[in-house]
Amino acid sequence: MTSTARNIFSDIPTPPLYSESIDFAALYKEFPPAPEYFHTVHKMPPQEIRALQEKRFLATVARGWQVPFYQLHWRKAGLEPGDIRSLADIEKIPPYTVHDLRESIERNPPWGDYWGVTLADGAKMPLVLQTSGGTTGLPRPMIYAPRDREVMSIMGGRRLIMQGVRPGDLVQVTMSLGLTNAGMMVREYIWKYTGAIALTTGSGAATPTRRQIELAQSWKTTVMLGIPSYIRHLGIVARDEMNIDPRSLGVRLICCGLGPEPRDALEELWGAKVMQQYGTNESGMMSAECPFQHGFHIFEDAYLLEMADPETHKPVPHGEKGNTLITCLYKHAAPVIRFDSNDVSAFSTDACPCGGTHKRMQGIFGRADNMIRLRGINVFPEAIATVLAGDARCNGEYFCVVDVVGEARRDEMTVKVEAGKSTVDRAALQQDLERRFKEVLSVKVGVEIVDAKALDKLTGLTSTSKIKRIADNRNAAK
Ligand SMILES: [Zn+2]
Repeated sequence: MTSTARNIFSDIPTPPLYSESIDFAALYKEFPPAPEYFHTVHKMPPQEIRALQEKRFLATVARGWQVPFYQLHWRKAGLEPGDIRSLADIEKIPPYTVHDLRESIERNPPWGDYWGVTLADGAKMPLVLQTSGGTTGLPRPMIYAPRDREVMSIMGGRRLIMQGVRPGDLVQVTMSLGLTNAGMMVREYIWKYTGAIALTTGSGAATPTRRQIELAQSWKTTVMLGIPSYIRHLGIVARDEMNIDPRSLGVRLICCGLGPEPRDALEELWGAKVMQQYGTNESGMMSAECPFQHGFHIFEDAYLLEMADPETHKPVPHGEKGNTLITCLYKHAAPVIRFDSNDVSAFSTDACPCGGTHKRMQGIFGRADNMIRLRGINVFPEAIATVLAGDARCNGEYFCVVDVVGEARRDEMTVKVEAGKSTVDRAALQQDLERRFKEVLSVKVGVEIVDAKALDKLTGLTSTSKIKRIADNRNAAK
């Protein structure tokens, strides 16, 4: 080394270290990971949970007042700091939707103003940037502070352990990898809080379906994780195209958000138990089924969920269907306070045999914005999946098209349905399905039988985790 050599590394700022950004011992006391959670918070008396929620709720509201988005949204509703004094005041806070977030981005491009941090804060604390699924335009960005991310990981670990994942399992993660949080988040919490190992294949776009099956077979996947339609697709490709019985693969557990799709057909196809949960990109894993499969236990130390009327946002009577409003009780970088998720659910009204004391939800019936008002009847397209799964002549894939038809300008819906095999009697299948749909949906819809895989381009089944099931052309036609 000569005297003229310059030390080019001398002026690099010291990056914030993840290991020093969180007091882990304190965090685990606040939000115990599994299995500790099941011996403590899971069985806490309801009034204690309520007290814990109130404390965390008031801290969350105080944090909300530091975020421009909430300042604007709350002041518009006449709210001032100090107005919210207890959990009982929660209904004074106006809910918000994705439309408000999109407006926030338009107001302050490209990031929006729903943050309490800026990207520049990454120099002070390690931040994670992921996005929503984003079906139109650019996806919505979401930033996570270290503690946000860690709490979400703890919740994800609780979810999988509750569903039956155990240390040593090989969990094949078939969620999208990349911008959206889903697959990345799952990998993080499998690694940190379950003792299992993630085999992160991603969706069919990252690892082709046949390769996914080859991996599951030779590396001995024990748990399959993803969206139900893709896991069904995996099973059908194995069986019909590769001559591999999915039941022979040794997968004992399937963890997926099922919606109203019946689990029997998927369990039968794979010879595995199907377990469900509810979570979102922004908020993390909010609830999951235990082995009794008797509703989804909400992790109420971290989340406050409400069921509200989609239009008035007033709470619906306990046990009735409403839009799920989400409040996260731990978030720092981007608080979530009364977010109207548009997911229709209902609280369970009875107890679960496992002894969990937190509120439970009955799963997701469908999306309020997916719901089609067809000649005066509310139709959840998701209910169509239930009918198809009960008919062996179909492979379960479908796509709904709604149009205004004829001089009378009558609303008509046609369900395009994939036939499982080319030998199926299409006329008979069409007739049977039209009859069944009339019984289940209480409204007459048309059926068109198409070839297997013909709907891939419409639904996005093999390329994304954000499956599309409907095209409503009525506005375009008006
Ligand atoms: Zn239970």
